[in-house]
Amino acid sequence: MASGTLTVDLDALVQNWRALGALAGTEAGAVVKADAYGLGVGPVSRALAKAGARSFFVATAEEAATLRRELGDGPTIYIFSGHMAGDTDMIGDLSLVPLLNSIDQLQRHLEALPGTPFGVQLDTGMNRLGMEPAEWAALRDLALAQGPSLIMSHLSSADEPQSAMNALQLRVFKDMTDGLDVPRSLAATGGTLLGPDYHFDLVRPGVGLYGGAPYKEGLPVAYLELPVVQVRDVEAGESVGYNMGYVARQPRRVATLSAGYADGLIRALSGKAKLYYGQRECALLGRVSMDLITVDITHLPEVPASLTLLGRQQGVDTLATAAGTIGYEILTSLGARYTRRYSGG
Ligand SMILES: *Cc1c(COP(=O)(O)O)cnc(C)c1O
Repeated sequence: MASGTLTVDLDALVQNWRALGALAGTEAGAVVKADAYGLGVGPVSRALAKAGARSFFVATAEEAATLRRELGDGPTIYIFSGHMAGDTDMIGDLSLVPLLNSIDQLQRHLEALPGTPFGVQLDTGMNRLGMEPAEWAALRDLALAQGPSLIMSHLSSADEPQSAMNALQLRVFKDMTDGLDVPRSLAATGGTLLGPDYHFDLVRPGVGLYGGAPYKEGLPVAYLELPVVQVRDVEAGESVGYNMGYVARQPRRVATLSAGYADGLIRALSGKAKLYYGQRECALLGRVSMDLITVDITHLPEVPASLTLLGRQQGVDTLATAAGTIGYEILTSLGARYTRRYSGG
């Protein structure tokens, strides 16, 4: 028996992608790094390509190589980490497009793969990846002479619309790129929601495609059902799970479900998460184990075959908040043991 069934609604995914593109009024790419945020890069990216997506973004050359095998020739595949030492053959052979982050990467690319496409990533204040203003000022004539296919940067605080950092980064990005005849991209999901000033020629939504905040209007994409392995009645005073993480004050009926922290139900959910039987809420009791969780089903009219952890009743962000984290971490933690089903597409 698998640790439950993870269903990915590819129609909802495609609708979210279309809606974000319509909101931007520009081309919408798709960020499918980390195995499409844990939901499966093959089915996700094929569904988006079939719907018309032409620009895909991943973190590393290895991810880009996997994606090229899934998509075949045609779509543009950008690599956020740029052109790293050792990546040259993959980039060249598979026509991948590195987003060059530094003078070293620019030199490496122009020497190793002259005449092949590249983009440029600028650092407008996040101090994580990309060329800083002074570096760009020194390199830009050289870079522009080679005809980059995209110039992009990334916002640090786009999920906080009131943050002054957004306008600051926008101004730095414009100062670094206004007047250049190269397509530009600044917005991920959060930036897409900040309005037209942030849209430029291409938006790069990731989490919003998968039904996560800050795109609150997005449709849910991930559904997770966990099977009940065993049910027992515990008496008042008995404990449940490791370290007596839950002690019953009254008699309780407890279901043990097949899925644990090795399946992405991070241990910080212990004692905090809710599961659902239809609309009925069931509390997770005590500690999350590696492969199992225990849930209070005392109030249910029958013993369920399974309970819902992700669905219409509860999305990734609600679950994430219970654990003190963000939807991105819940999604990308979902493990390999689930039976995966893809609907639509
Ligand atoms: C991950 C990432 C994105 C997508 O961000 P979301 O918040 O998931 O939409 C876009 N651009 C860059 C550079 C990223 O690292």
